Amino acid sequence: MYGTLSVSLKRRVKMADYKGRCMKCQKEVGITGAEVVTTKNNRKMAKGTCGSGCGTTVCRFLPN
Ligand SMILES: [Zn+2]
Repeated sequence: MYGTLSVSLKRRVKMADYKGRCMKCQKEVGITGAEVVTTKNNRKMAKGTCGSGCGTTVCRFLPN
C-alpha cells in the first residue's frame, strides 16, 4: 500500500540517544550524559548513567 516508505525518518544522532541495558532496572534504558570511550580492546562504547534515574552506570558497545 505504502509504496514510498519514508526512509528518512529520524537520522539525528545525539549523545543522549544511546541506549543500554541497566542492570538495576533490568531493562533497556536511555543513557544519560553518554560519552564515547574506547576500551583496552579498541572497542568503542557509550558510557553514562541510567536514563530512568536510578543512578547506575550503563554502557553499550558501539559498532565500529
Ligand atoms: Zn536503571
